[in-house]
Amino acid sequence: MPEGAYDFKPLDPAKFKDPLFTAKGEARAWVDLARLHTLWFNTGSLCNITCANCYMDSGPKKDDLAYLNASHVRGFLDEIKALNLPTEEIGFTGGEPFMNKALPDMLGDVLERGFKTLVLTNAMKPLWHNRDRLLALNRRFGAERLTLRVSIDHPTPAIHEQERGPGTWAPLERSVKWLIEHGFRLDVAGRALYCQSESEARAAYQRLFGAWGLDLDAQNPARLVLFPEMDEAQDVPEITTACWAILNVRPDAQMCATSRMVVLRKGDLRPRVVPCTLLPYDPAFDLGSRLAEAQGAVRLNHPHCAKFCVLGGASCSSR
Ligand code: SF4
Ligand code: SF4
Repeated sequence: MPEGAYDFKPLDPAKFKDPLFTAKGEARAWVDLARLHTLWFNTGSLCNITCANCYMDSGPKKDDLAYLNASHVRGFLDEIKALNLPTEEIGFTGGEPFMNKALPDMLGDVLERGFKTLVLTNAMKPLWHNRDRLLALNRRFGAERLTLRVSIDHPTPAIHEQERGPGTWAPLERSVKWLIEHGFRLDVAGRALYCQSESEARAAYQRLFGAWGLDLDAQNPARLVLFPEMDEAQDVPEITTACWAILNVRPDAQMCATSRMVVLRKGDLRPRVVPCTLLPYDPAFDLGSRLAEAQGAVRLNHPHCAKFCVLGGASCSSR
């Protein structure tokens, strides 16, 4: 098989239709919320770049998810407190979160209240323009509380730029070296591309981290998160209740067992809660406008549930 090629079989249109049953009539798997460990905020879908395989479909003109503001975030932090939820971590994702000018204020509010805080970023110009405020937050709250997870699609500039576009490597490298120099805690989100095995990918990332002086163990899957390729048009099996035992995978290991995400859809007056970072748009996964309404079970009625989570083994949180 040539590099980068794979057998493509289109998704069977009969699949992922009924929340309760698969196309074969078997009981569809579900995931109960075990405890809300991580609450994500999608700060908006706009991004400064357009990547070839963005699972959020973000880009410079993709504003389907509007910018959250600091008072939206405060409302949910108040609700965590009022409901006495066991939430330990707050995550921010986008788009590119640093495109939202309210991000430093949101980070300040979250850190002030004692949460561990994780920001997913491409570490390009939007972050660079916020570096003074970021530095002040890191000095005040420390690297134990604030983690930036930087996306590096491949440890070589040429392949990274194939995915992310020309000129995307140099601003990333500049920011990462600045963040290392100023004592930030960095994790990395990467991909195992072009038929590369996971161990080959981890070894290649480790060489890059060494060259940059980044103290990060590439063998640690919580610090270097490797995401599978996403292609919604490709066929995947549906997950039934029998699959947990067959695959030896636990429902409570899925992201939606311990997470929820807040989004503000364009045109909506109030933010909505969805199960995870992967499904911000699908109305079938809308769980309401408050955390109190979003505690129910999630039926795995989307190709991402199979490909990304149950079969791909990926998770977005820092644990
Ligand atoms: S940087 Fe991230 S959010 Fe932006 S287009 Fe690329 S993958 Fe999507
Ligand atoms: S995509 Fe994953 S985390 Fe999201 S609802 Fe499906 S199984 Fe849960």
